[in-house]
Amino acid sequence: MTLAYVGLGANIGEPRRQLQTALKELNGLPKTRMTAASGLYRSAPVGHPDQPDFLNAVVELDTELSPDALLDNLQEIETAHGRERPFAGAPRTLDLDLLLYGDAALATPRLTVPHPRMHERAFVLKPLAEIAPLAAIPGHGKARDLLCACRGQLAERID
Ligand code: ADP
Ligand code: MG
Repeated sequence: MTLAYVGLGANIGEPRRQLQTALKELNGLPKTRMTAASGLYRSAPVGHPDQPDFLNAVVELDTELSPDALLDNLQEIETAHGRERPFAGAPRTLDLDLLLYGDAALATPRLTVPHPRMHERAFVLKPLAEIAPLAAIPGHGKARDLLCACRGQLAERID
């Protein structure tokens, strides 16, 4: 079993409902147990600012799935939520990113772990630090320490 962390994001449709449904779906993944889920956070869009704010969360999964199989399952859930990719950084009904998979460092054409931008995003680091206060990102250090560098980014707990 490996502890993996998944980041959830949504900013079109009904973001709160989509995240709540996705939490249930992640909880039902094969060979996997959800061991923690953060609260919901509201964050400002990054990259393309002219789109609605995001709702975000992070969950901890105890899983026997390989990183690739876990990504397959995450992408299936995204697709079932009507996820479309018209351009990079486009608004989304549901985004599920594999943030950490144990202390693995992977770089394949379809999967980079740790997620390459997680260490500079308050909307990932805050919910991650909420459920795993000691979490460290291989190559970057503790989530809590990295948060100081993104103090200017809006990511507030809303529930
Ligand atoms: P983003 O989340 O960066 O806005 P997408 O969700 O559209 O973009 O994902 C684009 C591609 O990123 C996916 O097809 C997937 O293969 C790849 N990818 C690489 N590493 C990861 C990861 N750690 N988690 C999720 N997707 C990843
Ligand atoms: Mg993604």
